Amino acid sequence: MRVNQIPEEGKEVVLKVDVKKANKYFSLLKNSDFSATSDVEGKVRVWSKDGMVIVEGEVSVELDLTCSRCLAHFRYPVVHHFRSIYSPFHEMCKVEDLELKPYDMDVSIYNGVELDLENVLYEQVFLGMPDRALCCPDCKGLCPTCGANLNEGPCRCESEPRFSPFDVLKNLKLKG
Ligand SMILES: [Zn+2]
Ligand SMILES: [Zn+2]
Repeated sequence: MRVNQIPEEGKEVVLKVDVKKANKYFSLLKNSDFSATSDVEGKVRVWSKDGMVIVEGEVSVELDLTCSRCLAHFRYPVVHHFRSIYSPFHEMCKVEDLELKPYDMDVSIYNGVELDLENVLYEQVFLGMPDRALCCPDCKGLCPTCGANLNEGPCRCESEPRFSPFDVLKNLKLKG
């Protein structure tokens, strides 16, 4: 989107990135262990003033994530509301002129001419991802000794005595 075509009063933009295209982008990232299972959809409002651009709106996509405890894949719907500022690289310090509060938004740099809204959406998908991916809140993870997935049942190591007082609590909850 060319920035000189954005009206000062703002403009609504609805865009959709095809799932295949999004995954091509995600797969180029280092250490990416996730993919999209739906198109990436964005509904934003864009403002521009003196070369600064503000993008506010929502991005949504369904992702396939890997559980950080048991390594299973699971679906995770991202619905992320955001507001970010883009500053041309030569004018980093004008944020205050717009009477905004930079501390509650992220300020990024762009080339001053054109803002790629698809990239904005990709960025926001990352920010909408959980800090720690878990297939379920009480995922039991893998046994540190034999590597078995403990969600599928206890492994043989389980028969050895364990001394965590929380285990007692767990048993009580199950029976109650
Ligand atoms: Zn898990
Ligand atoms: Zn085990």
